[in-house]
Amino acid sequence: MSACRTPLPPETLLAYWLGELDEAGTAAADAHLLGCDDCGAALDALVALGDGVRRAFTAGRVGTVVGPGFVPRLAGRGLRLREYRVAPQGRVNCHVGPDDDIVLSRLSAPLAGLGRLDMLVHPVGGGPPQRAEDIPFDAAAGEVVVVMPTQRLRALPSGTERVELLAVEPAGERRIGDYTFIHRSSAG
Ligand SMILES: [Zn+2]
Repeated sequence: MSACRTPLPPETLLAYWLGELDEAGTAAADAHLLGCDDCGAALDALVALGDGVRRAFTAGRVGTVVGPGFVPRLAGRGLRLREYRVAPQGRVNCHVGPDDDIVLSRLSAPLAGLGRLDMLVHPVGGGPPQRAEDIPFDAAAGEVVVVMPTQRLRALPSGTERVELLAVEPAGERRIGDYTFIHRSSAG
């Protein structure tokens, strides 16, 4: 078996796995993977890294919530990370650089003792909020880690996105964090 001469880059494999490529990108990756054992093996290796957290993924236009331990393993594979840490009522200026493979938000919140946690995202440019239910979180670290869809972020106009974390309890919902991302378009 000869080595692939046009390997899919790791960030493309990651986006493919997370369901974050657009239709054309997905079709191109499908076609390549169908005929290439090397890249298929690389994808398998990536999937194995996330084993155990994949079930908890909330794939969608707004990002993928991952459990603790996933990010260090991605970094260990040489992917370039850009991280934004945001306080419970915090605001952050954000953008995607040309060399970034992965953009992460680390949402800090008081999470100890919580049962179910939901995330509500009000996307850039308006539109209905998207809700991710029962997301994974790291109670000890007090944070929720969201892998942002890098390829879609690159296409976004400048604008503001708001994210809320809601503790869902027998008595009802309680907002425990409210985060504002002021996004600057890659187009300038
Ligand atoms: Zn290949």
